[in-house]
Amino acid sequence: MRYNSFKIYYPLILFFLFVSYGFAQKKIGPLEGKKVLIVYGGWQGHEPNIFAKKIEKWLLKQKAEVTLFEGTAIYTNAKVMKDLDLIIQHITMGEITLQESKGLIKAIAGGVGLAGCHGGLGDSFRENTEYQYMVGGQFVKHPGGQVSYSVQMDTKKDPITKGINDFSLYSEQYYMHVDPTLDVLASTKFSGVHDSWISGAVVPVVWKKSFDKGRVFYISIGHSKDTFEIPEVWTLITRGVSWAAQKK
Ligand SMILES: [Zn+2]
Repeated sequence: MRYNSFKIYYPLILFFLFVSYGFAQKKIGPLEGKKVLIVYGGWQGHEPNIFAKKIEKWLLKQKAEVTLFEGTAIYTNAKVMKDLDLIIQHITMGEITLQESKGLIKAIAGGVGLAGCHGGLGDSFRENTEYQYMVGGQFVKHPGGQVSYSVQMDTKKDPITKGINDFSLYSEQYYMHVDPTLDVLASTKFSGVHDSWISGAVVPVVWKKSFDKGRVFYISIGHSKDTFEIPEVWTLITRGVSWAAQKK
């Protein structure tokens, strides 16, 4: 493009980007005034406090009302739970009591959203199948440990993935056992370099789903803090969080 025509088209391009971005945001809905509980803990290798603080900072910028809590004890506090719009959980493995898990499941079934990433939502409380039924998937392995892999968008029509291109990263490629009712937004294909028998397997990376009246959002990326600096990843997380906070 010659400089002169670039000068003419540049404001048009900017305007188009502004309008389409605004439209995508509008469709998801704002977080202003939403009551969000961030619960963190579990295996420290995933630095749960770093993700919790990062997403808290972003939520406060969106003018959400945020409560930060370490551990799962707050799930038994019916008074707190019933007023929430969204719970963001970042607890890898860890343990949950029956009462706590009942409190969490009751809140989500009643319409509170649930969002999270990596092991913080997709590898929590391994013995609790009711919890896994709600989330819609469970981590089972990341063959090869840290590997290079790519993420493909399954749809770009969803406001969560709109405008996001396929991308690659170097991190843990989560192999998940998943629920057939998921609304899969992005996925990854396993090469078979590690564990040849899974060659060609396509596994969800980003999904949304219903759990009774609640909205659940999950993304399997997020092993280390550098993964949150990948623009596509942070956009998917923040849009997913915004979507999950909008009660049906
Ligand atoms: Zn990890």
